[in-house]
Amino acid sequence: MEGARPVRAARGSTRVARSWQTEAPLRMLCNNLDPDVAERPDDLVIYGGTGRAARDWASFDAMVRTLTTLAEDETMLVQSGRPVGVLRTHEWAPRVLIANSHLVGDWATWPEFRRLEQLGLTMYGQMTAGSWIYIGTQGILQGTYETFAALAAQRFGGTLRGRLVVTAGLGGMGGAQPLAVTMNDGVALVVECDPARVRRRLDGGYLDRFAGSLDEAVRMCEQSRAAGEALSVGVVGNACEVLPELLRRGVAADVVTDQTSAHDPLSYLPREVDLADWGDYAAKKPDEFSARSRESMAEHVEAMVGFLDGGAEVFDYGNSLRVEAKAGGYERAFDYPGFVPAYIRPLFCAGKGPFRWVALSGDPRDIAATDAAVLELFPENTSLARWIRLAGERVPFQGLPARICWLGQGERDRAGVRFNDMVASGELSAPVVIGRDHLDTGSVASPYRETESMADGSDAIADWPLLNALVNTASGASWVSIHHGGGVGIGRSLHAGQVTVADGTALAGQKIERVLTNDPATGVIRHVDAGYELARTTAHTHSLHIPMVDT
Ligand code: NAD
Repeated sequence: MEGARPVRAARGSTRVARSWQTEAPLRMLCNNLDPDVAERPDDLVIYGGTGRAARDWASFDAMVRTLTTLAEDETMLVQSGRPVGVLRTHEWAPRVLIANSHLVGDWATWPEFRRLEQLGLTMYGQMTAGSWIYIGTQGILQGTYETFAALAAQRFGGTLRGRLVVTAGLGGMGGAQPLAVTMNDGVALVVECDPARVRRRLDGGYLDRFAGSLDEAVRMCEQSRAAGEALSVGVVGNACEVLPELLRRGVAADVVTDQTSAHDPLSYLPREVDLADWGDYAAKKPDEFSARSRESMAEHVEAMVGFLDGGAEVFDYGNSLRVEAKAGGYERAFDYPGFVPAYIRPLFCAGKGPFRWVALSGDPRDIAATDAAVLELFPENTSLARWIRLAGERVPFQGLPARICWLGQGERDRAGVRFNDMVASGELSAPVVIGRDHLDTGSVASPYRETESMADGSDAIADWPLLNALVNTASGASWVSIHHGGGVGIGRSLHAGQVTVADGTALAGQKIERVLTNDPATGVIRHVDAGYELARTTAHTHSLHIPMVDT
């Protein structure tokens, strides 16, 4: 792509922007594009198929220039990766407002999106790619770890020890799967069509072994499973061929899922297409390619349902594979559930969701200090303590040092205020940003994922993420984003993100307290409205005012 060059965020406590409220988005935009972080930085692609941080390099340069000079009462508007204006606002307002990939209902289809993208009028923002709070594979690792932990608790007595998980996809998000399984003491067999992706996860410490053949992969996994040892094995192959083959061989998978880029048929490799021809073929004949990839997904999902029929725990991990397989002609695609209704919804009812932070100093000691602070704040939360310990030992940083954990209503604000105090006292060497991804309680409408099977049938109501973005804007977040499509594809979700800068000032402390109270509160309210008793208890405990319930 024209203008491509290596980019890294600045480190240290000296800034080039006029305040930390603008230095932070500047560093985070650059951090997303760090070659250690992004999957294809030259194309501005961070993760998730074509999830971009900026529309083109000229837009990137313009955003860097603008953030460097933006005043504390100004707000930069970003329309799908391009800075379109700077407006006079006020110091409580976000410094950046972002809207990515939105299309009006009847036009919200992949072909129309691609037409507009080719004209240079929009970009795919995924979730944290276009909202500049991607922290590498650790982000999804934590959510994946929580998902496997919840699954293990429900089905296997609290551990995956002696259990085999079969899955596919070792990309930016999918690459977390092997480590999330081994952190839960299980064995993972991961199919990936691109050897470079397998190598990247091996080099990054997310994957233990790279098997030379399927026979070797199965042998390694069977041995470790029998011995009760944790192990992850990557093997090169096409999931739509390898999964049916594993089923045919009678490999007894305990858990089956998938994280190929199925949300976009052009990002899923069809049967009998060479890796080397993928890009060219998809670009030149998108309709034919999509039809072939949907047929292949149908075969892939048919094998997953075969494992389900055999008694395995099978779930969709938020990539629209079931939808595309159904479009490819496989009728039973929805026989297995999405991961949110299966394991995560009770956590959402407690206002729980991702809480991630990044040390703008670039100093890993700042993350070590914040890790210790989180453990001190929540001593009773043993699973949090286990995660923080394991993450400290086993998760390599990509780009600026960062951490993620899941915290609920009444917890996120306490942690945020504590971090701000640590910046003020000099315990941390520079400010931190606190944000979240969009796999969250109140910020997403996604009927194939976060809002699948809501108790009141309100899965597709998209008012909630918009309210969430408005609330975060009104509460003092440093940048706020709304996205369309995200992890599941055009036409299938709306979601909102927020990031708040802890710069150690009293004003930042007030903003953080409000944002990190109100952001999860929208999720609790959303679940109370849908009729979840557990959410009602959370609302009561935290004195949330919900007119239709309080009266
Ligand atoms: P990515 O594009 O970085 O990686 C996808 C990987 O799948 C690539 O390595 C690709 O080579 C591989 N692949 C494609 N077709 C294949 C096939 N037929 N057989 C084997 N491998 C194949 O994407 P990512 O960032 O890893 O995201 C994966 C999916 O997860 C996306 O659909 C994304 O939208 C979704 N997602 C889920 C969540 C969640 O919370 N569960 C969050 C974000 C994204």
